Amino acid sequence: MKKKIVILPGDGIGKEVTACGKKILEQVAECFGHQFTFDYATIGHEAIEATGNPLPDESLEKMKNSDAILFGAVGHPKYDNDPSAKVRPEQGLLKMRKELGLYANLRPIKLFDELLAASSIKPEILKGADILFFRELTGDVYFGERGRKDQGSTAFDTMIYSRYEVERIAHKAFKAALTRGKKLTSVDKANVLESSRLWREVVQEVAKQYPDVTVEHMFVDAAAMKLIQNPRSFDVVVTGNLFGDILTDEASQIAGSMGMLASASIGDTVGLYEPIHGSAHDITGKGVANPLASILSAALLLDISFGLKEESETVIKAVEQTLKDGYRTRDIADAATPHEKILGTEVMGNVVC
Ligand code: ATP
Ligand code: MG
Repeated sequence: MKKKIVILPGDGIGKEVTACGKKILEQVAECFGHQFTFDYATIGHEAIEATGNPLPDESLEKMKNSDAILFGAVGHPKYDNDPSAKVRPEQGLLKMRKELGLYANLRPIKLFDELLAASSIKPEILKGADILFFRELTGDVYFGERGRKDQGSTAFDTMIYSRYEVERIAHKAFKAALTRGKKLTSVDKANVLESSRLWREVVQEVAKQYPDVTVEHMFVDAAAMKLIQNPRSFDVVVTGNLFGDILTDEASQIAGSMGMLASASIGDTVGLYEPIHGSAHDITGKGVANPLASILSAALLLDISFGLKEESETVIKAVEQTLKDGYRTRDIADAATPHEKILGTEVMGNVVC
């Protein structure tokens, strides 16, 4: 298979971890006889410094002409202390999602057995948890009408969803459910919210096209509770932008470290793959960042954008084996980890390769 991959390392540890993600893709190409070519593009603080623009047109063009994008992170501490800065690294990220029409954010939440002991949640509750979230990215209260009235003493945000927005993400989630445990949980607040009643209606309609998938509708408050009480009861979860934002942060704790979680943002064109963590300037340049989230993002890329299931599973198994062999980065090491098994970013990546 011949494919063009654009890499956007971005800022901070984004550079360090995407180097490992790229290496694993090269390794897969070599082992399975594929031809992957790589190109680089700039985004974020780095792009602002070089061009004044957090997402130069040249970067966007490269992405639009690629088969998949591997992204690191954007951000720089200098903007944290300057909330009024007009040009910000995050603008590059939002523009990228909008321009590429990336409406579905997939977050697999999986706890590797090897990290069970290090978790703060009881192992008997966590063992075997494996959830795939589909968070809608382009609608909801983030994009509805908002404002102030009564001389500013009252504020409102409008939760808004259109049929087609729910339909397209529901189809993606149902298709994914078919390849997994054939169970889909749609999360809403249909007992209170009109937009949620439309959401539920549309999901029920779409469900008719997927008779092999068991569908369950759950209110968001109940889902939040059940996620901690019995995470194994979930397989694929589909939900709106706001509920997805909150639930996936909650669920990230099931997997242990931020450094373990990958994500995919997909639409109807090119897919974008990135760790859920940010630029983490506190550890930038120290060579200690966990590269597994980027490596697992590369696994998602192989599966979702290229349909290379076996290749993707091989990468996941390599991560599993690395953990089984006792290797850890600092963030996932515990008191029992021998000193010599705590590796830096590059070496950890090489072990997986
Ligand atoms: P940003 O502003 O770009 O979101 P951040 O400074 O908020 O960056 P995050 O990346 O969101 O930092 O992560 C929060 C903390 O989690 C970091 O300070 C870092 O110590 C830790 N962390 C995040 N990613 C990793 C990783 N891959 N490996 C190890 N630790 C990580
Ligand atoms: Mg952050």
